[in-house]
Amino acid sequence: MATNDDLFKNLISHCKEYGFIFPSSEIYDGLSAVYDYGQYGSELKKNIREYWWKAMVQMHENIVGIDAAIFMHPTTWKASGHVDAFNDPLIDNKDSKKRYRADVLIEDHIAKIEAKIEKEVTKARDRFGDAFDENQFRSTNPRVVENQKKIDAINDQFRIGMEASDMAAIRQLILDLEIVCPVSGTRNWTDVRQFNLMFSTQMGSVSEDASTLYLRPETAQGIFVNFLNVQKTGRMKIPFGIAQTGKAFRNEIVARQFIFRMREFEQMEMQFFVKPGTEMEWYHYWKEARLKWHRALGFPAGKYRFHDHIKLAHYANAAADIEFEFPFGFKELEGIHSRTDFDLKSHESFSGKKLQYFDPELNESYVPYVVETSVGLDRMFLAVMSQAYTEEKLEDGSERVVLNLPAFLAPVKVAVLPLVKKDGLPEKARELIDQLKFDYLCQYDEKDSIGKRYRRQDAIGTPFCVTIDHQTIEDQTVTVRHRDTMVQERIAISKVRELVESKVSFRNVLTA
Ligand code: ATP
Repeated sequence: MATNDDLFKNLISHCKEYGFIFPSSEIYDGLSAVYDYGQYGSELKKNIREYWWKAMVQMHENIVGIDAAIFMHPTTWKASGHVDAFNDPLIDNKDSKKRYRADVLIEDHIAKIEAKIEKEVTKARDRFGDAFDENQFRSTNPRVVENQKKIDAINDQFRIGMEASDMAAIRQLILDLEIVCPVSGTRNWTDVRQFNLMFSTQMGSVSEDASTLYLRPETAQGIFVNFLNVQKTGRMKIPFGIAQTGKAFRNEIVARQFIFRMREFEQMEMQFFVKPGTEMEWYHYWKEARLKWHRALGFPAGKYRFHDHIKLAHYANAAADIEFEFPFGFKELEGIHSRTDFDLKSHESFSGKKLQYFDPELNESYVPYVVETSVGLDRMFLAVMSQAYTEEKLEDGSERVVLNLPAFLAPVKVAVLPLVKKDGLPEKARELIDQLKFDYLCQYDEKDSIGKRYRRQDAIGTPFCVTIDHQTIEDQTVTVRHRDTMVQERIAISKVRELVESKVSFRNVLTA
C-alpha cells in the first residue's frame, strides 16, 4: 500500500500532469513557493471561492462583500501592527545551512510528545473497551500526566519568550529541549532573529518621491479601512459582516509542502462587527458555523479538529484554528479570531478619523468589536484535492486514479462522448453540449476507446460521462456513467440536465 508520503508525491504529480497546478514560470526552473493554476485548477479554485462567497454573502442578509485593492496606504500597516510585529523567529543550522522557524521547531517537538500521549490513550482504550473513561485516564495515568506537564511547561516558556521578544530565551529553549536539525542531525544552531514577512515595493516613477508600499499580507485591513464606507452606504446594522476574497503576500521563511505555504496566496476573509461584550458569543457561533461549512463537503468528521491558541496574536483575545488532516498531518486550514476593537481603534488613532457605529437602540456611538474568519483558498484547494485523490484497485485487477471531488466543485461537470466519430453521433453529442453549456462546463471527447475516455474524466473528477450511441439516434436515450460508483444507467436525453442539476447544485451544500 502506498504511504501518505507516496500519496502526497503522486498527488503533486497528478496536479501537474492533469493541468491543475504548475510551478510558476517553470521554463525558468520555477519560483520558490509560487504556483500557477492551470485549466482545471483554476475552475476548481473558482468553485471553492464561489462556495465560500455564496455561504457567507448570499446566505446572510447581514453580510456584504467588497473587493479592496492590494496596495494600501503605507500607514495602514503601521496601524495594523504589521510593520512592528509581523515577524517570524528564524534560526539556521550551521551544519546543514538549513533555515527554520524557531516556533515550528518547538511545535514539532511538542507534537512528538502529544503523539506519545495519544499512543497511551489508544492502548488503554483498546484494553478497557466500553468501560474506558478517557478524561479520567488523561488526568491520572502517570506517564500521560508527566508528558502533559512537559508540554505545558514548554508552551509557557515559549509564550513568555515571544511576548518579551526575547530571542535568546527562544534559542535556549531549543537547546534545552535538545532539538536537532532534521537534515544534519546536529544542535549547532545560530542565534534566533526576527524577520518581517511583508514584501515591499516602490510607488512613483522618480526614486526621490517614491514611497514604500507593502503588498498586503492579509486582506482584512482592506475591510477595516472601509468599515464606515460600507456601514453607511449599505445602512448596515450591528451585528454585520464584510467579506472579501483576494491575494495576500508573505515572504515565508520556510516555504514547503506544495501549496500549503506559499509566498503569494489567496485568502477568503470575513470580519463580523459586533457590540462590545458580545464578541465571545459570536466567536463561538462562527467557530461552529465555519466547521459546518467544511463538513458540508462530506469528508469524514475525523479529518477536522479545533486547535485553540495559547499564544495569541497582538490583536486577539481568543483564537482557534480549524485544522485539517493533510497527508503530512493535522495543520491549520482556517483561523477564527476575536480581534477586539484593536484594528478599528488603531486606524482611528493613526488616521485621525472616527470609525464608530451609532447604535440607535443604545443612543450612543462605539467602536465595534470584530470576530474574523479567515481561510486560505489554496489551502482549501489542497485539503479538497488530498481528500479527493484516490488510487483505486478495481475488481478486474486494473487500477484507476479518480478524483472523488464533491460534484458541485468539479471543474468539468459533464463529458459528452460519441461512441464513434460517424453516423451522426458527434453532431448529436454537440447538440447536448449546446443545451448544457449555459449552466455547466462541459467537455466533448471523441478520441480513443470509451474506457480510456472514462479514465481521463475520472482523473479530473468529472462526475458524469454521457455516451451517445446508435440507440440514441433511434430512441433519444443515452448512457450516463457515474464517476464514483462507475455505475451506468440508460436515461432519456431530455432527463440529463435534471440529473446533473440534482447532483451539482450549490443548493445541496448550502442547505446542509
Ligand atoms: P500559519 O500559522 O500556517 O503561518 P497563520 O496563522 O499565519 O498561518 P493567518 O494569518 O491566520 O495564518 O491566515 C489565515 C489563513 O490564511 C490561514 O488559515 C491559511 O489558510 C491561509 N494562509 C496563511 N498563510 C499562508 C501561506 N503562506 N500560504 C497559503 N495559505 C496561507
